[in-house]
Amino acid sequence: MSEQKPAAKPWILGIHAYVPGKARSADGRALIKLSANENPLGTSEVALAARSAAAGPAHYPDPGSTALREAIGALHGIDPARIVCGTGSDELLNLAAQGFAGPGDEVLFGRYSFAVYDIAARRCGATPVEAADRDYALDVDALLGAVTEKTRVVFVANPNNPTGTYMPRAELERLHDGLPRDLLLVVDQAYAEYLGEGEDDGGMELAARHDNVLVTRTFSKIYGLAGERVGWATGAPHLVDVLNRIRGPFNVTASGQAAALAALGDLNFVAQSREHNAAELARFTEVIESLGNHGLRAVPSKANFLLVLFEGELKAVTALDAIAEAGYAVRHIPVPGLSDALRITIGRSEDMAAIAEVLRSLT
Ligand code: PMP
Repeated sequence: MSEQKPAAKPWILGIHAYVPGKARSADGRALIKLSANENPLGTSEVALAARSAAAGPAHYPDPGSTALREAIGALHGIDPARIVCGTGSDELLNLAAQGFAGPGDEVLFGRYSFAVYDIAARRCGATPVEAADRDYALDVDALLGAVTEKTRVVFVANPNNPTGTYMPRAELERLHDGLPRDLLLVVDQAYAEYLGEGEDDGGMELAARHDNVLVTRTFSKIYGLAGERVGWATGAPHLVDVLNRIRGPFNVTASGQAAALAALGDLNFVAQSREHNAAELARFTEVIESLGNHGLRAVPSKANFLLVLFEGELKAVTALDAIAEAGYAVRHIPVPGLSDALRITIGRSEDMAAIAEVLRSLT
């Protein structure tokens, strides 16, 4: 064999592959998975039925996800021509970076935000830039302060992952107002369906009114379809056109399109999921607050998970092991600044009670 081998692009070798939430303990036991912000109620029965009834795998799916885009458009009041579907919203986030940034450019996002933004920036040879947080929340002043003439794309997750924090409408508008108009603002609303009545960050309106805003959504969270890999994005026609040029031609499977379409129509399942999450999130936040004298702190969340900080004697890794011993996988994110934190997906009531019990027993 020759010594020669293909050389990967240097910026590709700078990528740390995404580490997904685990469902097994270190010694290989299956755990209940509260580490990937999936829906603990599962999937709508209607969506499951539609998924089974979808065209078989011998055929290519509709390349334009036409019926699904029409249903999304009808629900959200958007022209389907301004919508593009993706293999999860992950694909669309990557395409947004690829379409608008390249070597020599910068892609900006907040410290403690979604890990895919860093990968998306590096994949296209751009430089990822992190703006400082404000007590774990995204900070508009820090983001605006980090914009340079090289910045091409800004990613904002709202609510944010892994912190659960929420940027209110006035702040998102202030961010958009402060950005040059030739720069793309991506508002990643993966958890938006968990927001309460009257809590709307206005991202969809920005995307409808301005030429430089893309909003992404997913069927992986409240719709309980993470395994089907369906997401969508909306924005001005020229933005959607760029994503359509570079996406995979058959990027959403027939079963994914059918299941997502049916899931959109099952308003009861969505409402039930939202109510369950709100009640359990509030209860679990109170549990953490009641352990405040032991150094536990809850970062205020509006998503389907809670970031718990361990600022006292009890260490996050100790709690992680004890929670695994009790049968649950939660997320420990070993990045600087988060090594003493756990991100815990809101599960079923009995799951949250069990985890609360573990934490109480350790303090
Ligand atoms: N954005 C955020 C903020 C997320 O947390 C996630 C899932 N972890 C995604 C996007 C991607 O979700 P999907 O690709 O499943 O649509």
